[in-house]
Amino acid sequence: MIVQRLREIQNRHGFLPDKDLRELARETGVPLYRVEEISSFFPAFVLERTNPAPTVIRVCRDMACHLRGAGELLDPKKGLPALADKLSQETGKKVCVEGVSCLGRCDRAPVAWAERHPMPEHVHAWVYANKSRAELEQLVRTLATGGAAPPADDDAKYVPHMNATTPVEIDVYAREGWPRDYRAVKKFIDFLATLPRGLQRPPRDLGGRELDAFVKENHPLLAELKAAGLLGMGGAGAPAYQKWLDVWREPPGEKYVVSNGDESEPGTFKDREIMLRMPHLLVEGVILAGLMTGATAGYIYVRHEYLEQIHELREEIARAEQIGACGANVFNTGRAFPVEVFESPGGYICGEQSALIEAMEDRRSQPRNRPPELTTNGLRDKPTVVNNVETLAWTPFIVLREGTQYATRGWHVPGEGKTAGFGGRRLFSVSGDVKRPGVYEVPIGLPFRDLIESPEYCGGVLGKLKAIATSGPSGGLLPARLPLDPKLDEKKRAEAVARIAERSKNDAEVMDWFIKTYMPPGETSVDLLGVPLDLNFFRNLNSLLRLPVEAMLGAGLVVYAEGTDVLDQAVNFTEFYRNESCGKCIPCRLGSQKLVQIGNELLGSRATGARADGAAADVKEITKALQLTSICGLGYVAPIPLATVMSYFPDDVAKKPNGA
Ligand code: SF4
Repeated sequence: MIVQRLREIQNRHGFLPDKDLRELARETGVPLYRVEEISSFFPAFVLERTNPAPTVIRVCRDMACHLRGAGELLDPKKGLPALADKLSQETGKKVCVEGVSCLGRCDRAPVAWAERHPMPEHVHAWVYANKSRAELEQLVRTLATGGAAPPADDDAKYVPHMNATTPVEIDVYAREGWPRDYRAVKKFIDFLATLPRGLQRPPRDLGGRELDAFVKENHPLLAELKAAGLLGMGGAGAPAYQKWLDVWREPPGEKYVVSNGDESEPGTFKDREIMLRMPHLLVEGVILAGLMTGATAGYIYVRHEYLEQIHELREEIARAEQIGACGANVFNTGRAFPVEVFESPGGYICGEQSALIEAMEDRRSQPRNRPPELTTNGLRDKPTVVNNVETLAWTPFIVLREGTQYATRGWHVPGEGKTAGFGGRRLFSVSGDVKRPGVYEVPIGLPFRDLIESPEYCGGVLGKLKAIATSGPSGGLLPARLPLDPKLDEKKRAEAVARIAERSKNDAEVMDWFIKTYMPPGETSVDLLGVPLDLNFFRNLNSLLRLPVEAMLGAGLVVYAEGTDVLDQAVNFTEFYRNESCGKCIPCRLGSQKLVQIGNELLGSRATGARADGAAADVKEITKALQLTSICGLGYVAPIPLATVMSYFPDDVAKKPNGA
């Protein structure tokens, strides 16, 4: 309530007037110090006492935008801020140009967000994408001198690069030519109607195979999720089935479903397209999760910079209510399941699922210590399913087509008689130095090469591949060729495959194929482009290669061509974590700043190499401290960008690369 009201006030004025804060406290009966506590935490809330400018242009400073020159655009002396200062003096009205964390349009970098208050009715901000420096300078001049704002680069107008010829399968309605009539929800309701005593929950002590058999018999559509092997697509890759099962097993009563549409990780923008162009899949996924787990309400939590997506989702929810798919009486069953959009107050940390719940409960968005898990003590301390947007958006497909249909859609290793491979499909966002940056739906396990080089997807690298950030900034930068430990002889490789086989014969076969193809005897490095895009494969690869820094796979890939100064990029990634640390854990709050300092010292001492040796030891020490003490993943990954560059790109640490 407070967070949402603050967001409305911020959207209306472009800042939070003191008077409105006092009024809000009075109206809601919440002490003013609590309102202040929240309003002073989120970077997107601007307090009146900071003397905000009526005209503000925020330029994204992260990853793809940094690669496209955001650093120069934001240079205080030679960039847009200097122009803004000059115009402020000339016009007598304050104009501000400042940096901002990723705006989620990395495929059209550089990106800027502009406001000039009072804004036209119903317009919260203008987003400008893929603009040259001259165009951005003109934008600053126009807004500063009272000219009409140029047309914004709306997401809806933009035709994003997606699969060139193969159809996107996630939208089962479009594929089948069905009207968007929420037939997956109807299918579940029809099933419920066949149960005279309603859904029976499993006894508390049931586990293992017996539990699986119980679910299959009593809740077959939930069992489809398990058959599909659907994993969370927000990062951690937790099985969706397990979360739904855990919440369903909790005693009946207040329970919730929350879709995590915060998507603030730089380089990641796939959910943007789902929420904008396929909102029915997400709304239906939320309703399915709600009905199948016995939840009482659903929320779609969306980052506030996704203005059009918020609008589309609200429209879709209204349409779903109108046809009876959600709301007070779902398809005349007498059961209520309202769905609403929660507009994020803003900030990367809100994407951490427990921090997101904190924001929804009107607190500072700081991650919780777990356990207890959200499946037992989530929103309002009630059992809660929190799933990524894409995870939920796949569930209508799975319910309507069955889980095995999804599971068999992964990539399989080539070769006659070979059956080993991966399950399912998923979306990746790709930006940086590729010919067609965009959002691609691919079979899980497809090798990087196919995604990056095929005309079906990215169409190739702009130049020669130097590095890929395989998980936004979290995984740092992996080189085009991963070094092979010379001690990893054939015997050790065979032992590693045998260990994988203990868990999964299929995974062992895939790894065996990979070793034979990319690690023949005498080879000293591995071709990164040969690596399959699968979370489990990455985990197995880490245990096989014993890389100096663990390789990670996320939904956002940023590609860097030869000539890129990867040390400079890594410092940029590190600054992102420093800027977005919520400050709850002191080692993360201080350590992330210390990492930025080390990165800048490395950049500054390249000519002499004076900092290089000591820096590696310092980063190692900070890594140890952060991994031991961080409550959430941010602290865990903050050192990785510098660690990868120091491990894999010693030449860039020693000397600025030619052409950079
Ligand atoms: S690790 Fe960092 S971001 Fe995460 S809770 Fe601690 S201080 Fe906050």
